[in-house]
Amino acid sequence: MDKLSIKADLYMGQGAMDRLSEWRNKRMFIVTDPFMMKSGMINMVFDRLHSSNEQYIFSNIVPDPPIEVVTEGVEALRSFNTDLIIAIGGGSAIDAAKAMKLFAQKLLDQRDIPFIAIPTTSGTGSEVTSFSVISDKQKNIKYPLVSDDMLPQEAILDPELVKSVPDFITADTGMDVLTHAIEAYVSTKANDISDALAEKAMKLVFAYLPRAYKDGNDLVAREKMHNASCIAGMAFNIASLGLNHGIAHVAGAKFKIAHGRMNAILLPHVIEFNADYKPGYGKEDSNRAAVRYADIAKSLGLSAPNAKSGVRSLVQAIKQLQKQLNMPQTLRECGVDQALLEEMRVSIAEGALKDGCTATNPRVPTAEDVLQILN
Ligand code: NAD
Repeated sequence: MDKLSIKADLYMGQGAMDRLSEWRNKRMFIVTDPFMMKSGMINMVFDRLHSSNEQYIFSNIVPDPPIEVVTEGVEALRSFNTDLIIAIGGGSAIDAAKAMKLFAQKLLDQRDIPFIAIPTTSGTGSEVTSFSVISDKQKNIKYPLVSDDMLPQEAILDPELVKSVPDFITADTGMDVLTHAIEAYVSTKANDISDALAEKAMKLVFAYLPRAYKDGNDLVAREKMHNASCIAGMAFNIASLGLNHGIAHVAGAKFKIAHGRMNAILLPHVIEFNADYKPGYGKEDSNRAAVRYADIAKSLGLSAPNAKSGVRSLVQAIKQLQKQLNMPQTLRECGVDQALLEEMRVSIAEGALKDGCTATNPRVPTAEDVLQILN
């Protein structure tokens, strides 16, 4: 039996932020990052709030939010007597708010606090997922929390908020969307509903990510990528992810590489690994991943006369997209030298095998396989 948790009411498109003006008499706990404050973008919230509301601004969120920030937030949220949480920012702000809500409810016995997520990047889909990725900066690890209790009641997808995202973050986060969709599609937990969502998200990425990258003010492309991010989030909330994310969570934390960028570097290699396995190796349906990748290639209009060439076309299309987005394609290009890789590779391989995302990868990897991928 599959359970599909699609909980949030979505307010979408230009003007969606106006939804905020409908709230009255709330003690709003607003979680955001310093960029939103400094740039004045936070005024897009304040300008819409009715004077009967009171606000507490928690703006300490840094990328890959550490547990200490979450703990601080739980305390602030509780002492403010919050009755509505609003998270506005990238995946880091939304994830941090989700973890605060979860801990406040579980540890401090608070009632369910309504929660609105407002993404300002088009990448994680966190506004519709039961995941929150929190970092332990001392140990250099990231760990995903998983609970339906963190799901926002509402998400506001307004493309106006994404216009200011610089091109390199547009590229990183956009490739995160693609990785979510591809991993959900080949996951051992994929079903017809996650397939439909993943397929749509991939098509939107190939059609609109280069446009959004080239011209951040292209509101059509921004809106399509914002939707793609949310749709891919729904897909992987159903089907989960795979080895790509398993490695990225560990390697991204160790090498301090942005999440989407780390995913993008790994993606062609993980696809080749998953597609190239022999009958009897790992999961019983040995050719399934290659066929699924070829299905993706076909749905994107790429040449796929058989599974093997379909996989090749897909990998080429991804590499081509990375080039269009001027993205690094190797760890070395991200400043990771051979000595650092040597030092970290075994702990990355061990961590990747333990990561929850790896469990639904179509091919069961060994530590040696992960080392090969990292090479
Ligand atoms: P982010 O939230 O870390 O933000 C990256 C940078 O972009 C920050 O400096 C931020 O200030 C800036 N930024 C955000 N919005 C902006 C805007 N509109 N204009 C200009 N700058 C802006 O990046 P992200 O990729 O959205 O989130 C990454 C985090 O989400 C990672 O911790 C990752 O592990 C996690 N994640 C979570 C899920 C999930 O389901 N919960 C899924 C994938 C990734």
